[in-house]
Amino acid sequence: MSDTPPGATTRSEPAAIRDRQRLSFDLDVDICVVGAGLAGLTVALEAARMGASVAVLEGRHVGWNASGHQLGTVMPGYGLPIGELIERVGFEDARELWSLSRQGAAFVRANATEELMPGIGLSEGALEVSNVDVGDQLISRLQMLGEDFETEVEGWQVDRVRDQLKTGRYFHGMYYPKAFQIDGRHYVHGLAALAHRAGARIFEDTPVVSIDSSGVRKRIVTPSARLRASHIVLAGNIHLGAALRRLSETMLPVWRYAAVTAPLGERLAEAITFQGSVIDSDGVDHFRIVDGDRLMWASPETTWSARPQRFAGTIARRIRTIFPQLGKVEIADVFGGAVGQTVHGMPQIGQLRKGLWVASGFGRQGLNTSAMAGQLIARSILWGDERWRLFSPFELVWAGGPTGRVAGHIVGIWGRGSSATAGVLARYREKARAQERIREARRLEANRQGGTRSPSRPPRPRPERAPPVATDPGEGANGLS
Ligand SMILES: Cc1cc2nc3c(=O)[nH]c(=O)nc-3n(C[C@H](O)[C@H](O)[C@H](O)COP(=O)(O)OP(=O)(O)OC[C@H]3O[C@@H](n4cnc5c(N)ncnc54)[C@H](O)[C@@H]3O)c2cc1C
Repeated sequence: MSDTPPGATTRSEPAAIRDRQRLSFDLDVDICVVGAGLAGLTVALEAARMGASVAVLEGRHVGWNASGHQLGTVMPGYGLPIGELIERVGFEDARELWSLSRQGAAFVRANATEELMPGIGLSEGALEVSNVDVGDQLISRLQMLGEDFETEVEGWQVDRVRDQLKTGRYFHGMYYPKAFQIDGRHYVHGLAALAHRAGARIFEDTPVVSIDSSGVRKRIVTPSARLRASHIVLAGNIHLGAALRRLSETMLPVWRYAAVTAPLGERLAEAITFQGSVIDSDGVDHFRIVDGDRLMWASPETTWSARPQRFAGTIARRIRTIFPQLGKVEIADVFGGAVGQTVHGMPQIGQLRKGLWVASGFGRQGLNTSAMAGQLIARSILWGDERWRLFSPFELVWAGGPTGRVAGHIVGIWGRGSSATAGVLARYREKARAQERIREARRLEANRQGGTRSPSRPPRPRPERAPPVATDPGEGANGLS
């Protein structure tokens, strides 16, 4: 199998995590987790800490996709703006959901310590900056976050923002003193090490090719071994493969790319004094200082897989657009990964049918949300904690099913292969494409204003590589094939 994800460079991995073996013998466990990204590893860590026997099956290697190629910024909340969250589920449930997202961030903080993950480099504070002058709108948001959602946040006037970020591109800011950043790649490998230490077994180069979730003991098939488990957690993001294609298709894959510059010396300190993460209000740029005088900067996105190196020039130009005083910046490394965007902007967390769980769709904000998902699922399996049901309105019945209806319903419909389901999925995708078009237009406009060239679609995109998938008669039993 390829070691390189469609959207990521092969950055060197710590040696210890490269010798995890592929599963070559049959195994019986309590919980089988599919995917060793942030979501799968958090479930594994939590469940193993609670005493369950856990096997994680990873088709490539730990952190192969987005989880091993992110910026490490940990914020409260979700990709969905708070106002829309309230509109969807009402004030009280929105508050609960927000509180869960803060618990996810707290989980990361509790584990990303120098003691548990030496060299993790945690530092405090993140600043969300506005691209437009809408200071008055921020006031109500600040009040709501501070008073109703118990989130520490400060409003920064334009002068203060521009004092720390010397650019005329940004206006007001919202400063989150309790947000933080860590070495993101280090974190995912740290999670794997902690899960392993807690007793979870992690197998790399072991794609799950089919699943039969119909019985009490579920069957999982890999190319060289079979597993039986009471619970399966699908944490494969968009790469689950054909066996679970319909689940993957409820997400729109978006490839996001980031770069680290060469050392910029004194000129960086003159342009940027803020030491935390900076995120713009359109979700276009996200950056922070690393290693004292380098910039780590994420910006371009595509809805197809491309070589990250193609975007080195785009990112350099984007940096220069925002901070022209930096002059020409040299790019030292480019990387990226695919995130799964749901139509509604909220993650997919919950039980599809008895013993079959899903944790995916974390989009651009996956650190706190995947940590929360891992905790919720492990606690539900082992302690009967039912708080994951707060996500029911956002599961696979979002297409209009009444709030709280279990997603297993749609799994059943899929099994019957009805055309109504195809229609539902087509409408999802249509809406997702419409949203993506809006976002693309915003991105193009941002590039136009900045005089930078937006990455163009390559003439013949390479098809996305997924784990090889065998057809297994047992597969149809769960209705997911
Ligand atoms: C450039 C970039 C910057 C980002 N920055 C941030 C940030 O600063 N803060 C933040 O909160 N979020 C950030 N994100 C988002 C975050 O990285 C993602 O939301 C998160 O990593 C998703 O984790 P995951 O475990 O769901 O998916 P993945 O990382 O995709 O992991 C899924 C794993 O499952 C495996 N898999 C799939 N199917 C199978 C199968 N059939 N059998 C076996 N294994 C399988 C895959 O190989 C993969 O390793 C960023 C993302 C990118 C790309």
